[in-house]
Amino acid sequence: MASTVKELEPKMVWEYFESISQIPRGSGNEKAISDYLVEFARQHQLEVIQDKALNVIIKKKASPGYENAPVVILQGHMDMVCEKNKDTVHDFLKDPLDLVVEGDYIFARGTSLGGDDGIALAYGLALLASDNIPHPPLEVVFTTSEETGMEGAANLDCSHLKGKILINLDSEEEGVFLSSCAGGARAHLILKTQWVKEEKSGPVYSIQIRGLKGGHSGQEIDKERANANLLMGRILYSLQEDMHFDLISINGGAKDNAIPREADAVIQIESKNIEKLMKIIEKWNDILKNEYKKSDPDIEVKIELVREISSEHLSEEIKGKIIHILMLMPNGVQSMSMDIEGLVESSTNLGVVITDKEEIRFISALRSSVESRKRLIINKIKVLASFVGADFLLKGEYPAWQYAEDSKIRSLFTNKYEELFGKKAEITAIHAGLECGFFAEKIKDVDIISLGPNMKDIHTPNERLSISSTKNTWELLLAVLKEIK
Ligand SMILES: [Zn+2]
Repeated sequence: MASTVKELEPKMVWEYFESISQIPRGSGNEKAISDYLVEFARQHQLEVIQDKALNVIIKKKASPGYENAPVVILQGHMDMVCEKNKDTVHDFLKDPLDLVVEGDYIFARGTSLGGDDGIALAYGLALLASDNIPHPPLEVVFTTSEETGMEGAANLDCSHLKGKILINLDSEEEGVFLSSCAGGARAHLILKTQWVKEEKSGPVYSIQIRGLKGGHSGQEIDKERANANLLMGRILYSLQEDMHFDLISINGGAKDNAIPREADAVIQIESKNIEKLMKIIEKWNDILKNEYKKSDPDIEVKIELVREISSEHLSEEIKGKIIHILMLMPNGVQSMSMDIEGLVESSTNLGVVITDKEEIRFISALRSSVESRKRLIINKIKVLASFVGADFLLKGEYPAWQYAEDSKIRSLFTNKYEELFGKKAEITAIHAGLECGFFAEKIKDVDIISLGPNMKDIHTPNERLSISSTKNTWELLLAVLKEIK
């Protein structure tokens, strides 16, 4: 068994993997790695383009006999997520990664490995440097800042590219080919505050929703987990049917792309209603524990006395609007894919509600693998905003890569995979964004697949890349390229 990177096969791939691991390349710090790629191209006398976003495109002519083959784009991102263990001394701006080979895995001591997506660079450079691998004309595209919002891909000028076949090398499971991804955006609904400034006595309570599981707003949106912000809306709606209260603030959730686990509302009531309020809170505990007994068994509504006097509260009109928004905001799974079983096609998550002096902001992260359905969710939130006289802002939009019924590149990979390894490949999709969405949007009729070797615990110091799987995926890639004539 090999114990150093130098002894690993395929040699060229690991050689380049080792060289790029010497160059710090966290998202936003890509100048050095980008220049390294340009220098590599110059040394190998290959055509190269480096743009303002530091994306690099390297072109290589077909090997003999493949001059008339269609151009193939190979793509991955040059940046990596920088994570280290608490006790690790490592400067991600200066220090090289400390690669370790152990059994079938390679990892970096104390830090993330950047196998995501360093392996795409290693494959790409090995192919570009080779003189004995049969392949069609290649356009190898290395993008920047994928991990922090896909800015490289968003800014890439695809008119430099002639290829209509794109192989994205940014997946982490051998034999599982991605065929679609979600597009998304952040929708901000902004309601201007109106404060009523008056000294008022009466108990001020904080209502707190706690104990929810939360989770990733894409991957876990189909698990029927409670959204703390929306539950607070339900509780306030029901409360106003039973008594008058003033709303002082409402806050919930920390990130738009996480299902909110906690929410807090501060209200003031009249002293005569204390007992009634306690009963209502108790009732809501029962209702929610019943509704969410499977998905959020630890759900809890708490109430806490904060003070006995208030100096200002939101106007009755604004309170009403907040409750309207929380009762009507689209949320959760909106549609399921009919192409891939069990895949969420469209969803939205009201992740954050914040009250400050000037405004109450409601932020939703929405997704769909069908562009028009993404637009539908955006428009629903827009309509709600205009209904209540709130402002609407759309941020961080990224495009979907819609599932294609017929994909030649997918069939080719599927067939070759079975031929080489005697197993059926799996075709799947993810309810999250990939750079493929930008290429699908920018290159007309492009045929895309996304794949990669087995990796574990990416984006953590435990990230590991399988050596045998790296070899298998390389062989598969070469077998497919050989076939494209
Ligand atoms: Zn990646």
